[in-house]
Amino acid sequence: MASLHNASTEQLQELDALHHLHPFTDTAALNKKGVRVIKRAEGVYLWDSEDRKFLDGMAGLWCVNVGYGRKEIMDAAYQQMQQLPYYNSFFQTSHPPAIELAAKISEVTPAGFNRVFFCGSGSEANDTVVRMVRHYWAALGKPDKKVVISRENAYHGSTMAGASLGGMKPMHAQGGLPIPDIEHIKQPHWFVNGYDQTPEVFGKNAALALEKRIEELGADNVAAFIGEPVQGAGGVIVPPSTYWPEIQRICKQHDILLVADEVICGFGRTARWFGSDTFNIEADLMAIAKGLSSGYLPIGGVVVSDHVAEGLEQGGEFNHGYTYSGHPACAAAALANIELMQRERIVENAAEKIAPYFQQKLFEMADHPLVGQVRGVGMLGAIQLSPEKPSNKQFSKGGVVSMVCREHCMENGLVMRAVDDAMILSPPLIITESQIDELFAIAKNSIDQTYQDLQDGKIDFSS
Ligand SMILES: *Cc1c(COP(=O)(O)O)cnc(C)c1O
Repeated sequence: MASLHNASTEQLQELDALHHLHPFTDTAALNKKGVRVIKRAEGVYLWDSEDRKFLDGMAGLWCVNVGYGRKEIMDAAYQQMQQLPYYNSFFQTSHPPAIELAAKISEVTPAGFNRVFFCGSGSEANDTVVRMVRHYWAALGKPDKKVVISRENAYHGSTMAGASLGGMKPMHAQGGLPIPDIEHIKQPHWFVNGYDQTPEVFGKNAALALEKRIEELGADNVAAFIGEPVQGAGGVIVPPSTYWPEIQRICKQHDILLVADEVICGFGRTARWFGSDTFNIEADLMAIAKGLSSGYLPIGGVVVSDHVAEGLEQGGEFNHGYTYSGHPACAAAALANIELMQRERIVENAAEKIAPYFQQKLFEMADHPLVGQVRGVGMLGAIQLSPEKPSNKQFSKGGVVSMVCREHCMENGLVMRAVDDAMILSPPLIITESQIDELFAIAKNSIDQTYQDLQDGKIDFSS
């Protein structure tokens, strides 16, 4: 146990400010305010260094699908570390946890997926995707098929290729991104981009933008299209029902690989094992991470369909891999996590019981005067705040009102994330009905307080 375990909050904040650079953070602003220190967790709850309790409405970062404190996963990792803490899978070697996990992943993924390439994270998975789809086409004698098409406001990770695939403008603005041969089309965000059309018409039009781009580039130059079944970090954007079938048709017709980024949607998040199951997507490759190990240890992978695997085999050596590809302890933790999900029927229970209840309570928020739209699927939800209803109006400056709401949530004991003007939910799949009641009671109270702040002119849009 770290020696600072009994240190005061102030001591911890001071040391953190001195030495720790945080991801996606304005360091100067954070250090002025002081970081919140999370010390322990159990089930769906977190406790900070002041012993304040929070219901974790985000399952960490969309990943702690089986909840905190699951001894089965810890024991599996500990036992594996005693047996073999590390060995690699380069140079014609393997080890039991990686072998068993690879087989287990084929068992739960959709039909036609029987092989996995391991890596350490979702970002690494998507970097692998870019190199793998280009290598695949080169192996088939089509080295010009290189462009990967993605969407604006998509999130595919933070490495050079991951952030390039992603469509987040503030990320592209730093570090000279995107890298070459990555293209972006509009996102299927009905509320923001298609409010003047029916969702069905808009969904199809958003998909047709892919066909148009492929025709502009020439299908001979396009390797793949990548998309999250539901955009997560972009704001839980659930595409209209017409979107994925049309994307599927376009990819098939133009001989473009379809990559499903299942890093959030995979392992039960949409109340099926994969987002591809929920949306009937027949992908050629899938990126996985997060729920694969419920975040207990870092691990990711690219799951490859049989026909892509056959193509890759014609390409000789794939000059790509990570020291920690299939790391034994991480693989053991992921295996224990999936076995736990199967034993407790966590995905099935979500589908039958807890996700319908979560969605019902989520959609009850739609009546609130500050709520412009509610959207969700499975155990994902977004509550879009809006200054005027019914309309798709947005506040003069995005992300201000939602940050006030987020602060109220924290004060009231709920972790809910703010993305632009949307409040985002992705709780552990093992949350109970009474905990869902608690979650939405706090959410409603916090949105009420935010609404009152707005009416009182307390929200400052100028800073
Ligand atoms: C989180 C995320 C990633 C990146 O995963 P990391 O493990 O943070 O590298 C990629 N794709 C999606 C859809 C994600 O949500």
